[in-house]
Parts: sequence; structure tokens; C-alpha cells
Amino acid sequence: MSGFSKLYKHAKRIILQIYIFIASALFLYLNGTDFFIVHRGDLYFGLALVSLIILFLIVFFRRIIPVIYPSVNPPTKKNDYEFILILINVLYFLLAITDKSIFNLEPLLYLFVTFSLFFMPNRVGGFALLVIIIQELIIYLFSTRYTLTIFLGHTIFILLFALLYYLLSYLERIRNKAILKSQINREVHEYREKIKDYRLVTAQGEQEVDRDVFLQATVLSIEESLKLEFDIIKNLLSLNTLALFLFDESKKRLKPTYFVSEFADNIVEEKIESEDGLFSAVIKSNEPILVTSSDRAIRGQVYYKKALKIKSFMGAQVVERIRDIILPRGIIIADRMEDPFIEEHKKIFSMLADFIGSLVQTQRLLHNIMVEREQKAKFFEASKKFNDALTLEQVMIATVESSNVISPSISDIIITLTEDDSSRQRFAFIHSQNENIKKYVGKTVKDNSPVIKLVAEHRIKFPTKDFKGDITSIYGDQYKISGISSIKVLPLITRGESLIGTFAVCTRDGVALNEEETYMLETISNILAISIENGIIVKKINDLATTDGLTGLYNHRVFQEKLDEVIARANRNQNCFSLALTDIDYFKKINDTYGHPIGDKVLKGLSTLLKKMARETDIVARYGGEEFAIIMEGTDEHGAYAFGERIRKEVEKLVFDGGDKTFSITISMGIATYFLDCRQKKELIDHADQALYFAKKNGRNQVWNYHKTKEKN
Ligand code: GH3
Ligand code: MG
Ligand code: MG
Repeated sequence: MSGFSKLYKHAKRIILQIYIFIASALFLYLNGTDFFIVHRGDLYFGLALVSLIILFLIVFFRRIIPVIYPSVNPPTKKNDYEFILILINVLYFLLAITDKSIFNLEPLLYLFVTFSLFFMPNRVGGFALLVIIIQELIIYLFSTRYTLTIFLGHTIFILLFALLYYLLSYLERIRNKAILKSQINREVHEYREKIKDYRLVTAQGEQEVDRDVFLQATVLSIEESLKLEFDIIKNLLSLNTLALFLFDESKKRLKPTYFVSEFADNIVEEKIESEDGLFSAVIKSNEPILVTSSDRAIRGQVYYKKALKIKSFMGAQVVERIRDIILPRGIIIADRMEDPFIEEHKKIFSMLADFIGSLVQTQRLLHNIMVEREQKAKFFEASKKFNDALTLEQVMIATVESSNVISPSISDIIITLTEDDSSRQRFAFIHSQNENIKKYVGKTVKDNSPVIKLVAEHRIKFPTKDFKGDITSIYGDQYKISGISSIKVLPLITRGESLIGTFAVCTRDGVALNEEETYMLETISNILAISIENGIIVKKINDLATTDGLTGLYNHRVFQEKLDEVIARANRNQNCFSLALTDIDYFKKINDTYGHPIGDKVLKGLSTLLKKMARETDIVARYGGEEFAIIMEGTDEHGAYAFGERIRKEVEKLVFDGGDKTFSITISMGIATYFLDCRQKKELIDHADQALYFAKKNGRNQVWNYHKTKEKN
């Protein structure tokens, strides 16, 4: 709106107001001087009547329009004065033109006094009283209607009415105050009890009911309490608005959280700067503040979209008290159009602020409990995955599963382990959707990679704040982790404080792990380190039980078990297989000549050769001292013989260091084939043994099939 049209609107209003007041005063005077009685029935009377009706209509509509259209400002005090003036004029006009002997309207006067005192604000009621007494005086002075007795009678009666009203309303106010006080005290007591109940929630193991349901119900009941309390106080103090604003995370802005208001649509929805307007005054004061304005509306109504004509405002801080510490959480504010708030209200308000402070505190505690519970449950689930993981393979599966629980964003998992004979890190396990990355397993990480420098050497998690490089190259350029958007690498440290490897998780969806998730991951990495250590121990125990210490081949017990399995399979599939038993020729002599340790080296060398030459499906075992067994599944006597011969020839080529000179060895081998030579385990072993014995007897360094030895005999 331009400055000119604003001025025009203002001027129009003032002129209209002046007109109404002057016209009303003139009417009062004319009424008092019997003008209407004298001119009853002529032109003057008609004109005066019409203008009175117009005046009445103007004032009436000025009051009625804001009721119909709430967007128009409600009536102000000036409107109230006009209204009263016009009503008084109408009243005295009626009194003047009616014949008292036929129809006495005087009781209307007393009714009117009571009405204006009761329904209008005190000042307007007082004004009405004054105008009526002036009117009475004018009539007494200028008209023939009143004698002194009637004038005094009227005036005293009117004043007595007013006095009686004041007395009654004063008593009523005292009574209300007492009710209010006891009501508030009762409420506060009830809430104190409730809050005590809420605190029970933190006590462990006392609640039998389902805790989640219980917590939800508690939060709901807190909100109910807030609503109840706000409604009571709004009605008791005849408030326009009662609102709670809580600080947001920034601690600088206040968010409208809960309110009751006659102008609910007009309350701002966005956050409000705590430094703005009335709010800054509330924030700065340790006790509730009162702001009153006698004529103009209070300034700084930051919580209304459009400023209202409020004349009294009250605000108090809402704080949480944790022992001696006071934490500001927000403010509550109240306002009303008329009578200023008094000291008594400040006390009520301060109690309300305390009550809300306790509620907020309770709510926060409940929230924390719930978050903590959720995290604990998640973490429990994640760590549970490791319970049954015994072998390293199971540990790796558990790692993937528990990472999924911590965050579904985790896409890749990379575990490196410290090599046995050096401190280098080797990729031991990789879980990734990128097949190329999985191929790094078994490769050694470069010594100068950030992972080694930070995580392995200094045992700190990666990345550190000042890491500026490319996260996909932290294992070295040849081991790029392409496509990831975040990575966290943690050292794997065992109970004995030694570093057994590193543990990394990556995300690819642009979402990095948050603080809580990283914390959970760190704890999981401790469990992982221990589980890997256990896995390694389990593997060692397993190896001890199944393999031979000197050669690393299966021991005799495993040989027997494996042979049982192979026989069962052969029977099932009607498939033949061959068993070869070999024995080193003249081994006693080697021991005697070069000593037992050299003899051991020969045994190791021979086993390495056997392992190297055997197919993946062949089973090689140390059968006895210097005797070895080879089970060849799906191999008939011809195949077994050919294989035996190849071994025999390779053994001849082995050269051993005997100290002073080198030497070589030969072996003898006997082969029996299942289905061809026999159908029993014992028989099979016997036949292989007999074939071996035959080879020995026949000159050694030979391979013999059992059925061939039979043909020979
Ligand atoms: P033959 O050609 O008849 O087999 O003659 P040999 O001397 O090899 O006789 P035999 O097979 O009976 O000898 C087994 C010898 O192997 C006896 C033992 O001293 C030696 N021996 C057995 N186990 C070990 C071992 O673990 N280490 C070493 N160094 N020698 C072993
Ligand atoms: Mg032997
Ligand atoms: Mg021997």
C-alpha cells in the first residue's frame, strides 16, 4: 500500500470517528433539551431520527463485520466507546418519546448499566456510567422532565447498581483466583507423580510389560498432559495465545512446537531467531517477563504472521535442570488483548515453564533410551553372527552378515591378514560386487600404501581427517577399489595386542557411515580379530589332528578314513580306484650314512614331490615311517602303473645334500586296484603290500601291479 493511500485510509477513519463522537454528543444534548419531544412529528424530528439510525447502523456494522469476516481486525476500544455512546442515545431517545404513564422504560436504564459493566471492559463500562450521569444532568438542567428528586433518585440508583456489580465481580475474582491456585497445585502434583513414574523406565529389569509399547504409551501421555495443561491455563487466564517454542539443533532458532490460540492460523510455522523481537527479551531474563502497552499494540510479535493488537505479553524460559546445570530448551509465551498480566500470573507461568522443562527432559531421556535400545539390539544381532563361527570361512561369512546389520549401505568388505613369516599384509578375504576386486585375494599389499602406513604401522583407523589422497588407491595403484564412495579401514588387533590384519568396509551409494555405525564397526572389528585368531587356532588344531607333522601329508588315521569314504563311493558308483604303497629303498642305510636329520629331509623332499605330482582328486598320506600311500580315484591298473612309473623316475632324479657329497634315492611301489583285485579294504591293502614286497624282492626301484605279480608266480 502506498504512503498516500495509507494516509487517506487513516484520515478517513479519524474523520469518521470525530463525526460519530460529535454527532453523539449533539444527540445527547438535544435529547436532554427536549428537542425530540418539542419537534415530535415535524421535519426536524424526522431528520434527527434518520441520522440517529444511520449512526447506529455505522457503529453496529463496524462491530458485526469482524465477527463475520475474521480477516478484518476485531473491534478496538474506540469502537467500544462509539457503540456505548450510540446505545445510550438510542436508549434516552426511546425514554424521551414514550409516554411514561402508559409504558415506563426506565428499568431499561439500569439493565443497560449492568450490561455495559458486565460485558464491556472495565474502562468502557466506567465511560458508560459517566455518560449516563452527564445525560441525567443535562435533562435535569435543560428539560422540564426531571425534578431534583428524580435526578438524584436516578443517579443514586445507577451508582448503587454499579457499586453492587463491582462488589460481586471482585468477590468472584477472588474466588476464581483461589480455584485457579488449587487447580494448578493439583495438576502440578499429578504431573510430578507421573514424571516420577516415567523415570522408573530407566530402572533395569523392573518392567514386566513389553518395553516398546510402554515407552510409546508414555510419550503419548506426555503429549496429552501438555494439551490438558495448555487448555486449562489458556481458559483460566483468558489468553489469546499460549505457545511453546523449543530450540532446534543450532540452539539459535526456536521452533513452534505446541500452541493453543484464538488465532491459530496466524502463528508462524517456521523457526524464529531467538535474537528477534519479544523472544530475545524472554531468552535474556532468568524469570518470566511481562510486557504491557497501554495504547498501541506491543512491538516485536515475532510469533505472529501478522501483528495483532495485543496489549499484554508474558514469556518464560523453559529449561532442563540436570543437577546444578541449567540447559535452555526453549520458551513459552502468552498474550491477551486486554487487562495486563499481574504478578500472580507470573507465578503460574513460571510453574508451567518448570512443568514443561520436566516434560522435555523426560521426553529426551525416553528418546535416548529408545535410540540406545535400538543400537544395542542391532549390535547384539551383529555380534551374535560370530557366536557359531569357528572356522575362518565361517568367520568371514559372519563378518559379511554383521556388516549388513550395521548398515545396508556397506557394499565391500576387505580383510588383509599379516603374513606368518613377515609383517606384510596379504588380501585374505574380499566381499565385493566387483569381480575384479575379488581377484586380489592372496596378493600382498604394497609396503608404502596408506593402509599399511596408517592402519598397520600406527594402528589408527583410516581415513584420518587430513587424508587428501584418492580413497580407491589406498591399497596401492595396482589394487584399486574402483567405484566406492567411502571406505573405513580398521586395524585387527588380538587379545595379545598383536596386529593380525586390517578390516575395511566400503560404501558405493554415496552414504558414508555415521558416528554410531563406525563405533559399532570398531567393536565388531575387535570381535573379528579375536574370531580370526580363534579360527587360525582351530585350523592349527585341526591340522595337528589330521596331518603329519614332518611332511604335512595326511596321517595314517586320516588315510584309513579317506580310504573308507573312497570305497563307499566306488561301491555306490561302481567305479574302480587304485591304491599305491611306496617304500624308500635302503632307507636305513641313508640314516646310517648321513644321519637322521638328513633322513628327515629326504622324507620331506619326497612328500613335496608326491604332492606336486598327484592330481587334485588323489589322496597322498604318510602310511608309516618311510612309507607313503596314494589313493587314486577313478584310476584303473594301467593308469595307476603309468603314474607310479612317472613318480619312480622323478624320484630317481631328486638330488639330496648329504654334507660331504650329494646322493639320490629310489623307491619301490606296489599297486592294487579295487574291483579288479579285490572287493574288501583289508584285502586291498594286503594286495598293495604284497605287490610292494614283490617289487623289493625283485630288485627294488620298481613298480608292480598286484595281478601282474600273480601272473609271474
Ligand atoms: P628296504 O629297501 O627293504 O625298505 O630297506 P630299508 O632300509 O628301507 O628297510 P625299512 O623299510 O625296513 O627301513 C625303515 C627305516 O626307516 C627304519 C627307520 O630307521 C627309518 N625311519 C622310519 N621313520 C623315519 C623317520 O621319520 N625319519 C628318519 N630319518 N628315518 C625313519
Ligand atoms: Mg619300510
Ligand atoms: Mg625301506
